[in-house]
Amino acid sequence: MISAVDGYVHEVFRSIQGEGPYVGSLQIFVRFSGCSLRCVYCDTIKARERVPHCALRGREPERTIPNPVDAGELASCVRSLAVVTPGIHSMSVTGGEPLEQVDFLKAFLADIRECGLLVYLETNGLFEDAARSVSPLVDIVSLDVKLPSLCGGGDLFAVYRRILPVFRDREIFCKVVIAEGYDPAEFDEAVSLVAAFDKRIPFIIQPATPTASRGGVPGENLLACYFKAAVHLADVRVIPQCHRLLGLP
Ligand code: SF4
Repeated sequence: MISAVDGYVHEVFRSIQGEGPYVGSLQIFVRFSGCSLRCVYCDTIKARERVPHCALRGREPERTIPNPVDAGELASCVRSLAVVTPGIHSMSVTGGEPLEQVDFLKAFLADIRECGLLVYLETNGLFEDAARSVSPLVDIVSLDVKLPSLCGGGDLFAVYRRILPVFRDREIFCKVVIAEGYDPAEFDEAVSLVAAFDKRIPFIIQPATPTASRGGVPGENLLACYFKAAVHLADVRVIPQCHRLLGLP
């Protein structure tokens, strides 16, 4: 399929999904460049800015292609990596924030769906119109419900109340990252807004991985979060970033 839409991509690679309910599954990751949020725990800082080249990893020799990349060319790169990769669960579109390049994302996903790969979208969900137009092209949605005080402020919860119904007919789970200094009242509100929409949505509490400059969240806090969430939601889990433990990207 020929596409006339191009966009910025940081890298394409394959790895084990280390977060959420699909932890342990082999995915091809397509990491888009660019994100306008500034989460304090961001572990993909390099992908927040648009970069001049997209790195294609997983096949020898590794190579780069110049950005912006044509959507059809990107789909072709993913397909050729998929052909030599056994046991693929799905393709994860991640970032940065994929919804910030919605026309490019739509053209890319329309092309990818022709080859039958399951599409798993990792998003902060803060772009309502983009989410609405991309939803039919996605199989699984990992919705990262951001706690405002950790992610630059603003009335993010009002957006999440509107965005959840957009993905009503998709497989969806919500993930809330909590980091040192999180506001428990914000966590409670995140729980409430998801429960008000659908108590059955899997709700993942993900502690931010500690760094040299930021400590971890104590286990007793995680347990307290679990109990608070489990009062309102049917499927609550605490899952750390397992790919970090495995030394994988
Ligand atoms: S939304 Fe994701 S990519 Fe953007 S700053 Fe937050 S953690 Fe980083």
